[in-house]
Amino acid sequence: MGGRHSRHPLSLMRKIALVDMNNFYVSCERVFRPDLGNKPVVVLSNNDGCAIARSNEAKTLGIKMGEPYFKFKEIAQKMDMAIFSSNYTLYQDFSHRIMALLKSQVPLMEVYSIDEAFLDLTHVPEEELFSFCQHLKDQVRQYLGIPISIGVSLTKTLAKVANHFAKKSEGVFILLDEKEIHTFLSRLPVNEIWGIGRNHTKYLLTQGIDTALKLKQAPPKWIRQKMSVVGERIVTELNGKIAYDFEEDLASKKMITVSRSFPKDVTSYEELEWAICSFIERATEKLREERMLAQKLGIFIKTNRFSEGTYYSNFQLIHLDVASHYTPSFITAGKKALKDIYKPHLAYKKAGVCLLSLRSQEEFQASFLSQISSKKEQLMLTLDKLNQRYGKRTVSYGAVNQATTSITHRQFLSPHYTTSWNELPKVK
Ligand SMILES: [Mg+2]
Repeated sequence: MGGRHSRHPLSLMRKIALVDMNNFYVSCERVFRPDLGNKPVVVLSNNDGCAIARSNEAKTLGIKMGEPYFKFKEIAQKMDMAIFSSNYTLYQDFSHRIMALLKSQVPLMEVYSIDEAFLDLTHVPEEELFSFCQHLKDQVRQYLGIPISIGVSLTKTLAKVANHFAKKSEGVFILLDEKEIHTFLSRLPVNEIWGIGRNHTKYLLTQGIDTALKLKQAPPKWIRQKMSVVGERIVTELNGKIAYDFEEDLASKKMITVSRSFPKDVTSYEELEWAICSFIERATEKLREERMLAQKLGIFIKTNRFSEGTYYSNFQLIHLDVASHYTPSFITAGKKALKDIYKPHLAYKKAGVCLLSLRSQEEFQASFLSQISSKKEQLMLTLDKLNQRYGKRTVSYGAVNQATTSITHRQFLSPHYTTSWNELPKVK
């Protein structure tokens, strides 16, 4: 044994990579439109409201994240900008394929959002890290046509920092050396740190803490007092000690269930529908309590196993276009699913709903994918508060539901290239 690399296993330095897909939605659209390679491209939110993904060329033209389409419509036309409606089915499909490819190359991975994942690269020797990452990047580009950036460092928070600089360089950035960490943290504005939101930024700036380095050097006790344990963890991670370890597929294992046996058998469709809707109300309320979003809704109905007559039990799973905690969206989906599985002339004994594919709201919003407009969110929070204060079911969703059945406008929608046989791209 011996040699340069015979470290004691206990002192093995963790190496954590953050993979981020560059301008992800735009990159997905470009895969099938190579003619748009150097052109400004913008993807719009639901109903073609505002910009949620921009190519670098569009960024250079000054298009801001979240900018309403009508505000840059004129410049878009003048500059021959390509505009797309969100095609979530396509993006979700690309994301799954890329994640599967990445997962096949590493022992431990955590999917963090639709376009980000943490990889554990501790097993890769330091001198091979760069080429290992470069190879991953080339593979994703070659097989799926999507450019990615990889940042590697000692903790998740530092890996995010490294990724920030990877985007500004060739796409791979390794940040393990203490002195280098120091240098790059001094170049990073404090608001760019993962988990430092607008309010924290405001406060830190009043305290003269304007760079990541200054936050790293802040006394942990003081930070804990002023920014709670969350702030303290960020400082810990900036100092190279892990406060957020891998949570492999934790969210996908979790679910929220609300179900009940009926005191008396239920035969009418209306009664069953009412039960399902009230279960959904409760389940989505729990979802918001936990600050989570769900993308799948399951509903089930059962007749009494022990009574005479045919036994019937069925379950239906619905995928929402986008993760949400907005009750009316789930109610609309649940009602539709119930129609599919309901059979008349049966006596139902039990019904229930479950919410699956959960993820935390912070993660989701951090990646700008949230389709919950702040108005809807406000409405949900207000209803929850009223129900908390005045008792359950004080306010319900009957009226709200009407509004959600309107058809969404997606004028510039690209075809479902990868998920619909009719829309497979043609080879010319
Ligand atoms: Mg990205």
